[in-house]
Amino acid sequence: MENKGRRNKKSFAVISLLLIVCILSFVGSAILYFKNRNMKAEIKRLEKNNADKNEEVELYKRDIENLEEANLELSKIDENIESLKKEYFSNIKTLEDKILDGSSNKKIAYLTFDDGPYYNTYKFLDILDKYGVNATFFTTSINGEYCFDNRSQNCLLLYKEYLKRGHTIANHTYTHGIWKGLYSSVESFITGVKGQEEVVKEYSGGYVTNIVRFPGGSATARGLKNGIIEELRKNNYGWVDWTAQDGDGGNLTSKEEAWYNFTSTINEKIEVVLFHDYNNITLSILPDAIEYLQNNGYILLPLFYESNMINK
Ligand SMILES: [Zn+2]
Repeated sequence: MENKGRRNKKSFAVISLLLIVCILSFVGSAILYFKNRNMKAEIKRLEKNNADKNEEVELYKRDIENLEEANLELSKIDENIESLKKEYFSNIKTLEDKILDGSSNKKIAYLTFDDGPYYNTYKFLDILDKYGVNATFFTTSINGEYCFDNRSQNCLLLYKEYLKRGHTIANHTYTHGIWKGLYSSVESFITGVKGQEEVVKEYSGGYVTNIVRFPGGSATARGLKNGIIEELRKNNYGWVDWTAQDGDGGNLTSKEEAWYNFTSTINEKIEVVLFHDYNNITLSILPDAIEYLQNNGYILLPLFYESNMINK
């Protein structure tokens, strides 16, 4: 009996042990199974992440390529603008030749504005913009950095503004000092021209102008005129006076007087109109003056070195 009881106990222990081993191995397998499944999911997630990252890198690469292409195009823009400008002015020159030899009935008016930049110049620019007209600004440095007519404003910013709005810039000497030594010698005049040339170049971002207007007009140079012209020619400069004006450089007293002066001087097939962009009477007649010229068949254009109107 006792033997039988001991055997039973032994078998029970063996069975229990087997059962425990079974349970443990089942639990172990389950843990491994789940761990494995999690790892696979993690690997999949990482692989997907990697693919996304690769796609992102490809997109960046494409962006960089596009930017490099755009950059290359941009570097060609200056070249393109230069050649377009050349073509534009050579077309106007051809038109001028035809007008002058009588084979074209068209007429040209070159609006020119002297003595700026002023703060007031913006108002002139806005009117020109409104009519889609381009003109020429004969600049001096009498205002210095801050505008004479608004000391809180930087007038040098206008050099880029002229170009941005499609106008041409010309040289009216650095000091405009008619009574302050500009005409004391050929050298002093040329120094004034060179000084303004540097200002234009520096503040316009490299624009080179080779058109000069004598402050007061070429007659103001008196006995020095021919010497100055010779020196200008040596420096590849052309010069121009004017053929029409409203008298705003003198003592203009009313709008009516300005209008009378202006309309009575418009009679040539090609006109170079003198205005001053500090003058508010001129500002007030400018819209009518533009319409008057256009209604009388004039095309309004900016001046350029090759023009027949520029003395060389
Ligand atoms: Zn002037």
